[in-house]
Amino acid sequence: MSNLDSIAFHEGEFKPLRECTVNIMTHALQYGTMVFGGIRGYYNNDKNNVILFRPKDHFKRLLNSAKIMQMKCKYSIEEMIEILKELVKRNQYKSNIYFRPFIYKSALRLSPSLHDVEDSFSIYTLLLDDYLDTTRGLRVAVSTWRRIDDNIIPTRAKVSGGYANSALAKSEVIQNGFDEAIFLDQKGNVSEGSAENIFIVRDGVIYTPPNHSSILEGITRKSIIEIAKRENIPLEIREIARSELYIADEVFFTGTGAQVAWITEIDRRVIGNGTIGPITKFLKEKYQKIVYGEDKEYEDWLVYVY
Ligand code: PMP
Repeated sequence: MSNLDSIAFHEGEFKPLRECTVNIMTHALQYGTMVFGGIRGYYNNDKNNVILFRPKDHFKRLLNSAKIMQMKCKYSIEEMIEILKELVKRNQYKSNIYFRPFIYKSALRLSPSLHDVEDSFSIYTLLLDDYLDTTRGLRVAVSTWRRIDDNIIPTRAKVSGGYANSALAKSEVIQNGFDEAIFLDQKGNVSEGSAENIFIVRDGVIYTPPNHSSILEGITRKSIIEIAKRENIPLEIREIARSELYIADEVFFTGTGAQVAWITEIDRRVIGNGTIGPITKFLKEKYQKIVYGEDKEYEDWLVYVY
């Protein structure tokens, strides 16, 4: 079955993705005025259930992105979670899935202004296992493209127009033979990946850049910070210099798509001894257990479809 036959949610209705179209004059298409999320559903075979990971946090961030971009959403967080569940049921999914909810400026309007422009809400789904290969270490490079700043396009808002910045960096490094890009912010500090947050480990302490380093406030990042706290692993949120990446013992990305993805090489410097480090390994395994509903301590992060 083509993904185009899957059932999506568009203009208030559940219908085949192939019927979910927009006019070429749509404001969001012309100006990148769409805010979006990325949510995972994990299929647990033993429980015969699809488990949504932190949907409430994801929708809260979506509504915050909408607020920054002067958009309104017709649906409450609870209603949007119900739509996710309904999509799983209607598509009869028994596999790992990815949901892409978004709010967009749907008016056919020439001016790029945000106010008094009507919005729409849609969700489509994809079957998704790994977004980045998590079975091996990633070879990454610092991009020559700098991360957009809060006063340019706020990265805190997950707005489609801002992803032109991610696209430039990602293609640059892939065409140069690497797997993923790392952005520096406008000050030259480490920011994040093209679609992931970043963490380093030095002498047993985890560090991750602060919100003011032009990052997306990642739900996986927040989860890793909370896990480190509960598991008594020291973690500090502070600015990270580029050269610290090279001498870190461990470096990893986090994201809904990437999950916990370890990095073996940055700008042709081997990280640690080139294998997955003990803290990254622990967090990667812990995260996998949590998302599949196999860790009772973290059940409050999960919503079961059935
Ligand atoms: N940064 C960027 C730029 C992203 O696109 C993503 C993916 N949503 C992340 C970080 C990770 O965020 P999350 O853990 O919420 O998926």
